[in-house]
Amino acid sequence: MTERARLAVVGAGPAGLAAAIAASARGVHVTVIDSGADAGGQFYRQPADDLGARRPQALHHQWHTWERLRDGLRAHIAAGRITHLRDHHVWLVQRHLNGFTVHALLGPEQERPAEVLADAVLLATGGHEKVLPFPGWTLPGVVTAGGAQAMLKGALVLPGRIAVVAGTGPLLLPVATGLAAAGLEVAALVESADPKAFLRHGRAFAAQPAKLAEGAQYAAALLRHRVRTYARHTVVEAHGGTAHGGTADGDTAHGGEVRGGQARGGEVRGGERLEAVTVAALDADGRVRPGTERRIACDTLAVGHGMLPHTDLAETLGCRLDGLDVRVDDEQRTDVAGVWAAGETTGIGGAALSLAEGHIAGRSIAARLAGTEPDPRGWAAAARSRTRLRRFFAAVDAAYAPPARWTELITDETVVCRCEEVTGGAIREAVDELGAGDVRTVKLLTRAGMGWCQGRMCAAAVAGLAGCALAPSRRPFARPVPLGVLARAGEATGEPEDD
Ligand SMILES: Cc1cc2nc3c(=O)[nH]c(=O)nc-3n(C[C@H](O)[C@H](O)[C@H](O)COP(=O)(O)OP(=O)(O)OC[C@H]3O[C@@H](n4cnc5c(N)ncnc54)[C@H](O)[C@@H]3O)c2cc1C
Repeated sequence: MTERARLAVVGAGPAGLAAAIAASARGVHVTVIDSGADAGGQFYRQPADDLGARRPQALHHQWHTWERLRDGLRAHIAAGRITHLRDHHVWLVQRHLNGFTVHALLGPEQERPAEVLADAVLLATGGHEKVLPFPGWTLPGVVTAGGAQAMLKGALVLPGRIAVVAGTGPLLLPVATGLAAAGLEVAALVESADPKAFLRHGRAFAAQPAKLAEGAQYAAALLRHRVRTYARHTVVEAHGGTAHGGTADGDTAHGGEVRGGQARGGEVRGGERLEAVTVAALDADGRVRPGTERRIACDTLAVGHGMLPHTDLAETLGCRLDGLDVRVDDEQRTDVAGVWAAGETTGIGGAALSLAEGHIAGRSIAARLAGTEPDPRGWAAAARSRTRLRRFFAAVDAAYAPPARWTELITDETVVCRCEEVTGGAIREAVDELGAGDVRTVKLLTRAGMGWCQGRMCAAAVAGLAGCALAPSRRPFARPVPLGVLARAGEATGEPEDD
């Protein structure tokens, strides 16, 4: 299947939708390509239609913004100005003499190819969670914080009955309060950041009163749901057992209300499952303070240590990165002609920043495709909001931090690369005895990062153990691709222009 558009937008989250609507409103025919079954991205993840959610807004904040985006998208689709390709997993964007080919794989099996030809491309692929390993993190019942949120928002499923939410970052707040509001008992919120770090950035926080109000709402919700909060603490170990069993896929919540307490799906029998975590206080050096350990019973640990941008597609196009973020100019253009980027692929900064960047990108693209110079006065309000939010999230990024000595929690037996089952001991041996000093050399010596996820889960941990900074990965494709699809790629467009 081959589609033809003037603009291909990869990603139907806040950034991609804002850009698609802004460009389409200015006469550009847009094709939005997204791996999800519905538009919304991570922030506005929607429950599947057949679940019949009565009040999906109960699981969201800023619902009115979503209604505006959703209605705008529907209106442009109805008018034939936007095409929305769902369940399309983009594995490569190729540059040609006459534009671009976006290569995707269709459906849950991701085996059927689809191509979109376009004159310009906007990358709005968002970010993914960073999780740092610790003993027991691979037990059933340990999920990522965003994963727990996605189960709730997308499948109306609670991951268990009693949860600990842990790690670091602002995402832990909506996750803890969202799970508690849906009926799960949240036994503790464990945040490794030091509250004093927030005082150091007081001015940046004070400049965003709306964000402060949002923070106050989370604090009130934590109090209301009697969630105990441990700051400057970390999870030292997750413990498994077979005593109480557990549920494979948790309880269900419809329209934000928990439906009874009954479990769906089968019991996990025989195997180990999470039954408690040990948390401990951190000292000024970021080490666990001996004697402060406490055990908290739970069947779910929702854990996350911040977010990382998705940059695979930008990297293969040759776009320049700033650190781990796609570099863009004031119009959200990358340094590759015809390629724009917006939202968390250009740096982690929340949904409001993604919306502002997407809007600016859409207007810039519409003007450039029409062969005119865009007038930045048209997006002045969005640009002001972008400046304020970038400043705010730089302070957020500086204040939230995993424990400085987190690698000391990884024992030699702890599995670090889950796909290839490579342990902390094997990685330390590669570093200490075989001289590996970077993620790639560790990969060649141990296979860490060589599996299905291609290091997306373990690269940060491997870099920490190797004592090097996390660098862009330079994967040739954003997804695994069947050989047959690879062999036929480009038949619709001929040979690509670039290297
Ligand atoms: C798991 C998770 C949960 C989150 N939960 C919250 C929350 O509860 N509250 C909160 O304030 N913030 C949350 N965030 C952060 C918030 O989602 C972001 O700030 C916001 O959604 C960023 O918008 P975006 O448009 O840049 O990217 P996203 O909303 O992430 O949208 C990117 C879209 O691109 C698609 N995509 C990516 N790569 C490809 C590809 N190769 N092919 C096809 N499609 C692709 C994705 O499916 C997604 O729909 C969460 C983030 C994550 C990762």
